[in-house]
Amino acid sequence: MEEFQDEKIKIEDLKPDKSKRILTGIRPTGHLHIGHYFGAAKSWVELQDKFDTFIEIADVQALTDNFNNPQKVKDNTLQIVMDLLALGIDPNKCTVYLQSMIPEIAELTVYYSNLVTISRLQRNPTVKTEIAQKRELFGDSVTYGFLGYPVSQAADITAFDATYIPAGEDQLPLIEQCREIVRKFNSIYGETLREPVEVISNSPRIKGLDGNEKMGKSLGNALYLSDDYDTIKRKVMGALTDPSRIKKDDKGHPDVCMVYYYHKLFSTINEIKDVRSECENGTRGCVDCKKQLIENINAKLEPIRDKRHYYEEHPDEVKDILMAGTAKAKREAEKTMEKVKKAMMLDY
Ligand code: SF4
Repeated sequence: MEEFQDEKIKIEDLKPDKSKRILTGIRPTGHLHIGHYFGAAKSWVELQDKFDTFIEIADVQALTDNFNNPQKVKDNTLQIVMDLLALGIDPNKCTVYLQSMIPEIAELTVYYSNLVTISRLQRNPTVKTEIAQKRELFGDSVTYGFLGYPVSQAADITAFDATYIPAGEDQLPLIEQCREIVRKFNSIYGETLREPVEVISNSPRIKGLDGNEKMGKSLGNALYLSDDYDTIKRKVMGALTDPSRIKKDDKGHPDVCMVYYYHKLFSTINEIKDVRSECENGTRGCVDCKKQLIENINAKLEPIRDKRHYYEEHPDEVKDILMAGTAKAKREAEKTMEKVKKAMMLDY
């Protein structure tokens, strides 16, 4: 493991190995949109065939900035699991579990909180950025829980003895903080915990239909996996196009058009080539271009939506899957807890 610490490993470069655990998580604060899909969930579906894959539904973490709205977190928990199952996450290959039902994570968080200083948490670049983004919620005084979420994330990772953690560049300081906690723990209490290795994903960050770098519900620019045909149509028809095109025969600039951007995600290579050349030559109308995109998006989302409808009609099945995954994950966390308590002389 050690030789990897200073290198950035790409997910794509990992050799499949079912004996290695890869752990990731998602906060249940809303339905999955296509930014989540292309940015993360698509690669999870591939990973479940190559590694022992754990996906945490991070409801406790979601409460750190939604503590005043527990209903939102509760309402979205099963919805997120439905999205994951509809996308192809297979409970026979992948462990999907609920963070709040594994108290060992909270227990580890308490022990780890002695191993990190407040100033170190305040200096964590990811935390700094997120606190700045949540000024509306926190004002000038951030909560202890939110400031400390990297500590609880270290507990999430180590509780399940994860080897690899998929992360975007902006998440790397959190993994580094986890490694620091692990090293400190091991140096004080003896070699007990595994240092996780971050694996960088090449998955793109998907822009919103309005061209905004970020896609999100509050921005009103997201396409959801659960959107029906009419919703997709309405959203794509309102997407940002090349503003310099007034008439159909105006020569266009597809690179500034979000419809072209989405064609690159949902259309075939030949279709993408045609869109570019016809737009640049002024032989393609924006309305027809959007209609083609709507059909292509719908063709991709329809089977996902159909599968999701099945789970919407069978919520007990979804709950059973989540509970079975949680029971399995809890057994793993209990093993870690036993080692940790022994190392800390708390094994009464
Ligand atoms: Fe965009 Fe298509 Fe219109 Fe060109 S023709 S500006 S790619 S919508």
